[in-house]
Amino acid sequence: MEGGFYRMGRGGIRDTALRLVAGFGRAIFPHFCVSCGLEGQLFCSNCEVARYAPNRGFFFCLGCGCRLKHQVSCGRASCVAGQWGRGFAAGSYGDPILRGLLHLYKYEQVEEAGKILIDFLATTVGRQVAAVLVGISCSTVVPIPMHPVGRAWRGFNQAEELARAVSTELETDFLPSGLARRLSWQPQAKISDHNRRVGHVSGMFKSGTDGIDLVRREVILVDDVFTTGATMRECIRTLHLIGVETVSAIVLLKG
Ligand SMILES: [Zn+2]
Ligand SMILES: [Zn+2]
Repeated sequence: MEGGFYRMGRGGIRDTALRLVAGFGRAIFPHFCVSCGLEGQLFCSNCEVARYAPNRGFFFCLGCGCRLKHQVSCGRASCVAGQWGRGFAAGSYGDPILRGLLHLYKYEQVEEAGKILIDFLATTVGRQVAAVLVGISCSTVVPIPMHPVGRAWRGFNQAEELARAVSTELETDFLPSGLARRLSWQPQAKISDHNRRVGHVSGMFKSGTDGIDLVRREVILVDDVFTTGATMRECIRTLHLIGVETVSAIVLLKG
């Protein structure tokens, strides 16, 4: 078993390590390094997530999701009309290690996976975002809120934990209750048709208890994953309605 383990390719070791940890959850130790397979931690000191995925972050359009190079907007008429700003993703959802760690953090409540991802996001934002977003110090960081029922069930909102780290890194204000979810809500995954889903999120958010402080400020929204962007755009619409002019976003992974 031991020899076979080390003869496997990198992907094989990673998959095995992720499966081992995912299968046993937070209670069972030891963990195995998801990068090299070494016993002890999810990311050993030799591998470190920042070294595993250095400068993999990229900017993208919050309207259509396309990657941006140096421009602030993709220039498409529909994106300009919707005033969709610029998003930044620290990594890609296609990366099996980052995706696997996120799964452990969100669904298995493996605390160490959360710490690794929060550090990774803060490091990547410090390296790749701080110098790019102009006037960032007068911005306010707001997490995408979870529905209260979902939050109570999970015990934490991963977007809030990530957002706190981003605001510390960028030295901005942090308003965890800038936005809130409306109470009548169904999980998006249960609505299969894309158009219905887009329609469904309309009106999902409202100004939260801290929302009054957001008027005329620049807001940086933070979430764990950006996939279709429907949820993110609904938050941006809500912020525009309450008088926020400029909204950008930072996510851990983009699909
Ligand atoms: Zn390692
Ligand atoms: Zn666009």
